[in-house]
Amino acid sequence: MAYLVLARKYRPQTFDEVVGQEHVVRTLKNAIKQGRLAHAFLFAGIRGIGKTTIARILAKAINCEEGPAENPCNQCAACVEITEGRAVDVQEIDAASNRGIDEIRELRENVKFRPARLRAKIYIIDEAHMLTREAFNALLKTLEEPPPHVHFILATTEPQKIPVTILSRCQRFDFKRLPLTKIVAHLQNICNREGVAIEDEALVLIAREAEGSVRDALSLLDQAISSGVRTQRDLLELFGLADHLLIEKLARAILDRDLGESFKLVDQAFAQGVDLSLLAQDLVEYFRNLLVIKTAKGQVLLDLPESELSSLRTLSLEAETEELLLIFQVLLAALGEIKRSPVPKLSLELAVARACEVGKIIPLEKLFQKLEELKGQTFLREDHPSAPAAPPQRPELSPASWNEIISFLKETYPSLGAFLETLALPSVEGNRLKIRAPEGSLLEEKLYRERLERTVQERLGCSLEIEFFSRQDSLPTKQKLLEKPIVQEALKIFGGRIVQVKTYEKE
Ligand SMILES: [Zn+2]
Repeated sequence: MAYLVLARKYRPQTFDEVVGQEHVVRTLKNAIKQGRLAHAFLFAGIRGIGKTTIARILAKAINCEEGPAENPCNQCAACVEITEGRAVDVQEIDAASNRGIDEIRELRENVKFRPARLRAKIYIIDEAHMLTREAFNALLKTLEEPPPHVHFILATTEPQKIPVTILSRCQRFDFKRLPLTKIVAHLQNICNREGVAIEDEALVLIAREAEGSVRDALSLLDQAISSGVRTQRDLLELFGLADHLLIEKLARAILDRDLGESFKLVDQAFAQGVDLSLLAQDLVEYFRNLLVIKTAKGQVLLDLPESELSSLRTLSLEAETEELLLIFQVLLAALGEIKRSPVPKLSLELAVARACEVGKIIPLEKLFQKLEELKGQTFLREDHPSAPAAPPQRPELSPASWNEIISFLKETYPSLGAFLETLALPSVEGNRLKIRAPEGSLLEEKLYRERLERTVQERLGCSLEIEFFSRQDSLPTKQKLLEKPIVQEALKIFGGRIVQVKTYEKE
């Protein structure tokens, strides 16, 4: 006997055998029991989750000689013919193959005749969204006045492409992706029946790759069995997938800003023959999952095995939401690039390097926390970020001592103190204190200049002549900014570096 693929061999023949889609099965069984079946159904959902399977079971349930029955007998002539695809009254139309023109024309002709052998005529239209406009129009005419002995089942992966006029005449069922645990249990069951022993971790991997589609899961299982794969490790190799531990390590390295380790892991994956664009996709998903866990605050919204959930939880505690969001953004943006790149490894490395940089951004919450800690400590204030200071040339006037002078003046001559506070740190050249101040400032008045000179002398213990200038400088360059005491202090406090210089206009 020819090898029968698992999806066909284990195709459910009754509603009770269907895996998942409980909401659909329950409603259909009730409708059959009560004899209140709609004439047109729309089955919507991703591929491989049982739309056609349930359509065929429904066709049998309606036509079973023992029925109509909630569960068809699968023994009578009607059931057997439908199962074997020989029933003349059950037509399957694949709208994808020729967009259904001929079939729908024929359907319009034949629909008015009573069924040849069965109780009711069933038309199953697969990929119904592919029908042409003419075919839809023809179908609509039939749906408007359906003969009592006819049922239509439209199956589609893209319900949004079905005309509203058709939709409004169908009872709609949205098929759901199957949860991971359900697919794994189904695979375990089939492995038992097939007498093959495959590691549970390998089945989890298959289920994950199938993304909720039973058919995809079974065809991956077919591949695994025929390749003699029994362990997760073999399977990773067979599919060119990265182990989730590697993804986890890579995510951790990115969060630790460890570029060396990140590159090492990418190298390792490359050497193992992992498909790097799949790796990138898994990595994006990993950060997405971290975000979900971080923001869900204990409510589990992820369809993952418990072992992975707990490691995600741990890592999510070590990262800030902003950080995760930015890394997620950077990696997602790079995904297309990596897939198209002639050298995916380099593109992935670039993305990872960018993501590592993101990790260096200090979240606002931490900044505020640091500021809180700094309360009570004296440090410089400056309100003129666009006015660069001349570099201090004599150590005598440290930021701290200038600050003291200002504090003192603020108490004795508040307007002078407040004004000086808005200026950059002066420099000392010879016996002159060079202050950069705007034209027409307080310092042009002798009285203020003398007050300042006196205070400087008292505080610094040396006599300095005040010289002020108002040269218009170009925008501050990085170097000039770096020379500013307030900037140096900020960099020291936050352990940062200057990335970009921006000027903010004051109101
Ligand atoms: Zn039957």
